[in-house]
Amino acid sequence: MTTAVRPQLHYLHDVLEELKAQHLYQKLPILSGEQKPVTVVNGREVVNLSSNNYLGLAAHPKLKRASIEAIRKFGAGTGAVRTIAGTMTIHMELEEQIARFKQTEAAVVFQSGFTANAGTVSAVLNKEDLIISDELNHASIIDGCRLSKATIKVYKHCDVEDCERICKETENWPGRKLLITDGVFSMDGDIAPLDKLCDLAEKYNCIMMVDDAHSSGVLGRGGRGTVDHYNCHGRVDIQVGTLSKAIGSMGGYVCGSRDLIDFLYHRARPFLFSTSHPPAVIGACQAAFTMLEGAEGERLVKKLWSNTKFFKRGLKRLGFDTGVSATPITPIMVGDAAKAHEFSRALFEEGIFAQAIGYPTVPQGKARLRTIVTAAHKRKDLEKALEVIGRIGKQMGIVQA
Ligand SMILES: *Cc1c(COP(=O)(O)O)cnc(C)c1O
Repeated sequence: MTTAVRPQLHYLHDVLEELKAQHLYQKLPILSGEQKPVTVVNGREVVNLSSNNYLGLAAHPKLKRASIEAIRKFGAGTGAVRTIAGTMTIHMELEEQIARFKQTEAAVVFQSGFTANAGTVSAVLNKEDLIISDELNHASIIDGCRLSKATIKVYKHCDVEDCERICKETENWPGRKLLITDGVFSMDGDIAPLDKLCDLAEKYNCIMMVDDAHSSGVLGRGGRGTVDHYNCHGRVDIQVGTLSKAIGSMGGYVCGSRDLIDFLYHRARPFLFSTSHPPAVIGACQAAFTMLEGAEGERLVKKLWSNTKFFKRGLKRLGFDTGVSATPITPIMVGDAAKAHEFSRALFEEGIFAQAIGYPTVPQGKARLRTIVTAAHKRKDLEKALEVIGRIGKQMGIVQA
């Protein structure tokens, strides 16, 4: 039995009703098994094109074994924040492993990519400072910028000229300056012009920061990210990544100089005030990086790209607009949000799980299905997906019959 609800939050009900009227209300899709390329969502078996599980590691036997082993040795939880009593040897080992992978002096693990961004930007800058930020940067960067109380100036998406215009205008800014970008943009799948942004950061004396949430495990040698992809080693002061996407578990990390990491140990609020990762998570991440450092990781990254190319070519051949994507994130542009949701629902009925994304996650009129293939997809899964997407797309007039 539940208790009676007080009226103070009744306005939330009105908001939800409004979302329903606008067809923006969404029930959570529920998986009844592991995160896999073919899985059961809301009771239906589907080809899953909606996860960020790039390398198929989320349900990989090696990660599961490593998690169980870590639980056996270190228990179910850590019982404290990192700075008090919540740092175990495995936390330190993982950080060393990540730093080695990214070729930086040091790394620190956060509870999520979200807290890594928000905690780092807000710790490194304060209200006298300036942030120069891409207009499509991730919400966690935006929140970090706001928390820092620094002045925020936004340049047009991936527009180096517009970025330089702001750099010039603020050349004599009295405080520090941070130039910040996503490495790969999560809704469009395009790659930031990191080399050119590094040029600007050098020319105008900005701290350079990149969020490689969607590029680690995807771009660069063995998935080392955009810094490696552009050979910008030594030119980016702060590299953020996530353990929740290609790495297959959960968490985030920051890589950079020993001083940066030491400073974050002392000043990053999520690090100081939120309990550390349980051993199961750390064990899984260690196993994932061990794979990435070896031949197996290279093979998985190659497979991810061959699947990506196969799927993108198929969509183009069918006549779909896949926007500006250059990575495994492949939007199927629809335009109208209601139509995108209808397309997604129709695909689901036929066993294809591709979520529709509309405003406010993407701009008005730019609704789309967001698809991601993984290294774990089989060709026959992708062939089935292309067949169904093509057929329904034609029926709905999204592409020409
Ligand atoms: C997903 C994402 C994050 C957040 O990572 P989590 O580990 O899921 O919190 C941060 N930045 C970008 C660009 C992302 O796409």
